[in-house]
Amino acid sequence: ACPETGSHYPEIMRNLRTVFGLQSFRHNQLEAITEALNGRDVFVLMPTGGGKSLCYQLPAVCKTGKTQGVTVVVSPLLALMKDQVHSLQEKSVDVFLWNSEASWEEANHRMRGVKKPNLLYITPEKLKENNTAQNILGELYRKKLLARFVVDEAHCISTWGQDFREAYRDLNTLRARYPDVPIMALTATARKVTVDDITQRLKLRDDCAFFTQSFNRPNLYYSIVPKSKKWMESMMDFIAKKHPKQSGVIYCLGRDKCEDVAKKLKENGFSAKHFHAGMTQLDKDLTLDEWRKDKVNIIVATIAFGMGIDKADVRFVIHFSLPKSLDGYYQETGRAGRDGKPADCVLYFQFKDYMSVRNMIERPDNNNVPPSPESIKRQTDAAQAVVKYCQDISQCRRVRLLHYFDEKFDKVKCGNQCDNCAHPVPCVTRDVTREAREAVGLIRVFQERSELVTLAQCRDILRGANTAAIRNKHHDKEAQYGSARDLPSEVLDQVLQQLCLQDVLKEKSVQQASGFHSEYVVLGPEAQNFQRSKDKTYVDWRPKPGK
Ligand code: ADP
Ligand code: ZN
Repeated sequence: ACPETGSHYPEIMRNLRTVFGLQSFRHNQLEAITEALNGRDVFVLMPTGGGKSLCYQLPAVCKTGKTQGVTVVVSPLLALMKDQVHSLQEKSVDVFLWNSEASWEEANHRMRGVKKPNLLYITPEKLKENNTAQNILGELYRKKLLARFVVDEAHCISTWGQDFREAYRDLNTLRARYPDVPIMALTATARKVTVDDITQRLKLRDDCAFFTQSFNRPNLYYSIVPKSKKWMESMMDFIAKKHPKQSGVIYCLGRDKCEDVAKKLKENGFSAKHFHAGMTQLDKDLTLDEWRKDKVNIIVATIAFGMGIDKADVRFVIHFSLPKSLDGYYQETGRAGRDGKPADCVLYFQFKDYMSVRNMIERPDNNNVPPSPESIKRQTDAAQAVVKYCQDISQCRRVRLLHYFDEKFDKVKCGNQCDNCAHPVPCVTRDVTREAREAVGLIRVFQERSELVTLAQCRDILRGANTAAIRNKHHDKEAQYGSARDLPSEVLDQVLQQLCLQDVLKEKSVQQASGFHSEYVVLGPEAQNFQRSKDKTYVDWRPKPGK
């Protein structure tokens, strides 16, 4: 059915102009709104900044919908809800926010009163913990006064994603409790497994209307930069040359790192501030406000900074730490260039960061409970996908990124808006089967002798280095000494990295007498399979000019 000729169309357009002060719809908005008013379940998959809110805010003020009454919006972030409620109130929309600050009397008065709000924003915790909420909603339901449930950031219900929220889990009872009330689910997280999971958990009806779109963001330039010791200088150089006095975000792992980087930026004359979960709410609000008003250009943040940040003119997003997943990376980079103008997404990559992430994944939580094997596997898979993405030196970044979201993307459409397309360099594939087996053999020998060895030491033995350290430990007597002599050193590095990435080798942290931890390399869970298998090992590399 064509939405422009549908019975809801005149009212939709009137509300778009008079209530929201907008002239036209963005991709899929009109269609999603129309289906919502037709009383169907609706699934909206839209990139961040695509305009998801309008898809449920507009039907909430329409009088022609098949189901009438209160639109109940569940959203994971209070700050986000407050922003929305505030902006709706400015448009004179009748809306009530039920969070922990709202008293029972107040809620009772608003929800049981004669004039009920068009929209009720409620935290998932409130829905869960509080029988009053369920009672009131039950009452509205029996009086046929619930128009629809809206589950914003619906991926939070899925344990597949990184954003899983315990309180979201209980939303799977909405359908059973309120069978006649349509559900609208919205998310910017596009993986098919996640979408299927949401559909199933919310028990969306078979005739649910799905609205999806390409996740390509044509104005973003993606690049990976090797993280050398001088990364700070390289980054400052980049910002000063390409984005002087412009808005940007730098993601770091850990609070100390954020503060440290922000401090260095300031010392070098940049306008920067840190942002992380350890700050007081007041400090966070102040920092955000200064950033929004362009009094501060650069925010150095942990990934706690992000969901719901709506600043249109972010010109660069830099990752100084390895993102935990490609989902996360896509979301975080997606905060750049929402105004459609060009923006840069730069990731500083070094393999060492993967090893730290890998160690962190296995670490017990604050209550000393070790993570489950499934959780370790899920997080490791996610981190490995990021590393493979970073290490790929030939394929278009968009093709890879969008492929991860199950989208087929034609490289031509990238328009050279990624490093691999813009600067194609001949890449050589080399068979390194022999060297890889020698490396694993060497580590097996050390392990059998219960001798600890670091990855750097192995590397020196394999390349046949003639150093005092090697001679003193008689490492030049090992059978594998010099067995990778023919490989350029960066290729040998790649071989070892690949073995770590495949869990053939892994790092083991050992506490020294001094109290410090040192990382040694040992055989990983895949070592046996690797040694038995007949598969060959290859690496892709870019020969340096002149070699
Ligand atoms: P999302 O929730 O998908 O990240 P929002 O709903 O916050 O996106 O919308 C992002 C921005 O786009 C907001 O500033 C909103 O006012 C604006 N917007 C949404 N729909 C339209 C439209 N049809 N025309 C113009 N601006 C719009
Ligand atoms: Zn490309």
